[in-house]
Amino acid sequence: MNIETGQVRQRPRRFTGVEPSAILELPQETQFQVIGDVRYALTAQRFAADLLVRGVLEMDVRGRCARCGEYCTQTVRDGAFACSYSLSAANELIDLTADIREAILLALPMNFVCSEACRGLCVQCGANLNKAPCACAKPRQTIPWGMLDQLKLKRK
Ligand SMILES: [Zn+2]
Ligand SMILES: [Zn+2]
Repeated sequence: MNIETGQVRQRPRRFTGVEPSAILELPQETQFQVIGDVRYALTAQRFAADLLVRGVLEMDVRGRCARCGEYCTQTVRDGAFACSYSLSAANELIDLTADIREAILLALPMNFVCSEACRGLCVQCGANLNKAPCACAKPRQTIPWGMLDQLKLKRK
């Protein structure tokens, strides 16, 4: 995505559109697939010798949840994209592609899950616990390490 700086004055100017997801150069083997394009809604504004570009980047991805294995679609979003570019001429073309790529890559989930509240699969019977609780006995409560340390101290 390019911005022609001659078009931007002190008054903010809005740029919206899409970039092909190919700009991300994602490896073939990922937990998810990109659906459609990278969408941007950016505002460019001149501040003295700098051009400040801020806004929102979004992209839809589809993949299998790491906990329950169900396919789901999610929107990857950078709601606070902000980059500044120093201006050297009255009119020049600034290429934002590399910065958009980096921002989207940082916004990608490390662990792809259908929802933060996903209960995953029962380790005993494999039932999807989001759909219904299974008949297996609940695993016994494990004691956190911190509590074990306290117990040891008391025995001294
Ligand atoms: Zn899930
Ligand atoms: Zn179970």
